[in-house]
Amino acid sequence: MGADNESDSILWGDRTRAVHVGEGVDPVTRASSPNLVMSSTFSPDRIAGFSALNRSDYEGYTYARVSNPTVEQLASKVASLERAPAALCFASGMAASHALLAGRLSHGDHLVISDTNYVGTAELVRDSLPRWGIEVSPIDSSDLAQVDAAITPKTRMVWIETPANPIMRLSDIKAISTLAHERGVRDVVVDSTFATPAATRPMELGADFVMHSLTKYIGGHGDAMGGAVVGRKEDLEALNLEATVHYGGILSPFNAWLISRGIATFPLRMMAHEQAAIAVAGYLEQHPAVERVLYPGLPSHPQHDLAIRQMHNFSGMMTFKTTQPGEQVAQRMIENLQVIHYAVSLGHHRSLIYWIPTKMLMDSTFRLGRQAESRYRAFAGDGVFRFSVGIEDADDICADLGRVLG
Ligand SMILES: *Cc1c(COP(=O)(O)O)cnc(C)c1O
Repeated sequence: MGADNESDSILWGDRTRAVHVGEGVDPVTRASSPNLVMSSTFSPDRIAGFSALNRSDYEGYTYARVSNPTVEQLASKVASLERAPAALCFASGMAASHALLAGRLSHGDHLVISDTNYVGTAELVRDSLPRWGIEVSPIDSSDLAQVDAAITPKTRMVWIETPANPIMRLSDIKAISTLAHERGVRDVVVDSTFATPAATRPMELGADFVMHSLTKYIGGHGDAMGGAVVGRKEDLEALNLEATVHYGGILSPFNAWLISRGIATFPLRMMAHEQAAIAVAGYLEQHPAVERVLYPGLPSHPQHDLAIRQMHNFSGMMTFKTTQPGEQVAQRMIENLQVIHYAVSLGHHRSLIYWIPTKMLMDSTFRLGRQAESRYRAFAGDGVFRFSVGIEDADDICADLGRVLG
């Protein structure tokens, strides 16, 4: 587990943290760049326990599923960027989500969760949690009254994603954390993958845990999957024993090393993502083939006020709907885009776009009530494009879109 407890680093700004936290000149070789420690086992210098439950007070490394120096370096960088006491890394964002849900909730507990979520989270919560005896209430978390009404004495966790995939809906982290804690809820979790710590630091707003897919903006280069849970030290120590050591979904040191390397430029990339996204959102909004654009940085976003309050960077994620049938436009994108890749995932340095058909979303992932479903259909029609604006030149991104929008 990595912790942000390096001496002077608490005074550092984001850019210095991103480059230096968790790293230092190697004391033996004087290497300036961090070593990659791939070893799965370590040779203790005295008798030490062989189970994570009984390590005979041995503080060193024993086995890489319990702890690994390269993974810890990454964890301390992530914790530092979140201004959080500690972080734990996992093999993927979904492994991090599973660790939190399975590690913090038990049979008989109740979870209140946003009804619009990253699809993997939506499916895991809908299909697996009830099987484990955990009751789930999906609600529109942009509406505080719905959160309030859903909380029962059994509610142990409120899970929000902001901005939420793919409708870019925001939830007010501070208001929800205050309300949930007043009502006796133990854990407020924020999936902050879209926002990133460059925009929002949920623990400073009252959240108990932050979850990240490191595969997205934080790693930033589309070449390494990873996930993180950020939180208080004692909470993460408890979670570490169960969720990493026993569930086993640990991050490979090689991926940790790649993601750490990616983080060095994270604050700079986020500035470039936002700058390009503002230009592209403006271009799309005035394009006759585009019906609607949802981007938190646009004054036309229905929660632009909250975005200004809660997001210090509007990130590079947007959703738009075309006037022509989405399927036709998507086909043209697959055939004709030159800069933007037609592919899932997001937050990479290169622009990525994907069509999300409404029918597929309703049949396989979301569990919306009839009212929420008809609201979603009114907004999305046959489908929407989820667009992750990269760090290329905005003019080139717009020209590429112009080629396929018609
Ligand atoms: C991608 C993503 C996840 C899952 O992360 P993986 O690294 O793909 O497992 C969770 N939440 C959000 C918002 C995401 O975008």
